[in-house]
Formats: sequence, structure tokens, C-alpha cells
Amino acid sequence: MNCIAVIQKSEATEQDVKRLERIDITFDQTCSICLDVAVQPYSLECEHSFCKECIKGWHQRSQECPTCRAPIKNLR
Ligand SMILES: [Zn+2]
Ligand SMILES: [Zn+2]
Repeated sequence: MNCIAVIQKSEATEQDVKRLERIDITFDQTCSICLDVAVQPYSLECEHSFCKECIKGWHQRSQECPTCRAPIKNLR
């Protein structure tokens, strides 16, 4: 999974990368909870993204971002 993302990134032009960053829903994001491509990516206020189900489960145990430990607010 990660190899494919790296190849796609290296083949994209700088302009493509900027476009992909803005349209982040269509860009594969890795969830650092299950270490796979995020399913229904959910972005926290710190801009880290996780699967919606992963972050929901995580939030029941911890109120901090798994990556940077920023407080999680307003999880829907
Ligand atoms: Zn996940
Ligand atoms: Zn974070």
C-alpha cells in the first residue's frame, strides 16, 4: 500500500501534488492506527487523518491525536 502511494507521489508533477493536497478526499491517506490506507478518512484539527472507525474507537480510550497528541475536539 505504501509503495503505491510513494510511486504515485514521485510521478506527480509539483502542480499535481498541490492539487492533490487541496482535494485530500481523493488522495490516499495512511491511517497511523491500522497502518493502512484510511477508509472514509477523518481529519482532526491538527490535520492528521485516520479511518473514521479507527479514530472513533481510539477516541473512546484517548482524547489525544495518536500521532501528535493534540487534544481531539468535536469528533463526529
Ligand atoms: Zn485505520
Ligand atoms: Zn495530530
